[in-house]
Amino acid sequence: MRIVVLAGGIGGARFLRGLKSAVPDAEITVIGNTGDDIHLFGLKVCPDLDTVMYTLGGGIHEDQGWGRAGETFAVKEELAAYGVGPEWFGLGDRDFATHIVRTQMIGAGYPLSAVTEALCARWQPGVRLLPMSDDRVETHVLIDDPEGAEGTRKAVHFQEYWVRLRASVPAHAIVPVGADQAKPAPGVLEAIAAADVVLFPPSNPVVSVGTILGVPGIREAVAGSSAPVIGLSPIVGGAPVRGMADKVLEAVGVEATAAAVARHYGSGLIDGWLVDSVDADAVDEVEAAGIRCRAVPLMMTDLEATAAMAREALALAEEVRA
Ligand code: GDP
Ligand code: CA
Repeated sequence: MRIVVLAGGIGGARFLRGLKSAVPDAEITVIGNTGDDIHLFGLKVCPDLDTVMYTLGGGIHEDQGWGRAGETFAVKEELAAYGVGPEWFGLGDRDFATHIVRTQMIGAGYPLSAVTEALCARWQPGVRLLPMSDDRVETHVLIDDPEGAEGTRKAVHFQEYWVRLRASVPAHAIVPVGADQAKPAPGVLEAIAAADVVLFPPSNPVVSVGTILGVPGIREAVAGSSAPVIGLSPIVGGAPVRGMADKVLEAVGVEATAAAVARHYGSGLIDGWLVDSVDADAVDEVEAAGIRCRAVPLMMTDLEATAAMAREALALAEEVRA
């Protein structure tokens, strides 16, 4: 079975671990979000690709969900001693090595897709990990400018909004800078065309899955795919399970409920949608929107619970196909 998964960071990575356990023989292609990418200290950092790679490769800091296990921060401390920031983005020493290798390869002329493949040769994630695009796309968030005159706004990098500001200020718009000029990375459209199933894991619908779908050609390929497209809700009981997805949903005018996210994707894109058991009330509303819907446990508390979610998604895909 060929499965394509459009993944962000933590939600995507944890789901993928369950999916691999549920269907060990499946050929899984992950299309990763690169809209979170940021250049820091002259290095190219790809937080979502690395979260998937480290999680599936056994290098992740489990409790945190991002970054390396057994990390130290000597380089960060030394940079801070020189007064060189930003101090709000936590890059550890082990993690730095990944970004150095990546930046060096890009400098030598390799596209991000080839670099990601090279990094994965070490981590052996057991999936084919493709960046959504080799072209630079950077999500920016439009916020009020505290230094400007009344009513002036400014765009900040997504990481500044998310990590430094903790999404605590109103987001007026989410702008994936460069997306309109970006092309899907080699293999992305081919993987979607060859897929038996396309899955949206419980990743952020706006700044993870939404950004991937914003690369011209990807949304069209998924919508036009003959394979069932099944999503799992990252919103449970009217709130994100972790993080601040409600803030970016609000910015695009979508309520933070499992049903509203399904309608946001729409029946033209997804065929099936899983909501958590606590949101069983939402099933009728989603089905009325033309999307097959089931309520099942959606908390990724451990590997078995996550594998069960993956099995439910694949069962719904079979139901849609029939
Ligand atoms: P990020 O790039 O690290 O923010 O990660 P993703 O975009 O892949 O996923 C973030 C989303 O995962 C958040 O909106 C969370 O609500 C969701 N999430 C995290 N853990 C769980 C879980 O156990 N169950 C469900 N249903 N969603 C989860
Ligand atoms: Ca992310």
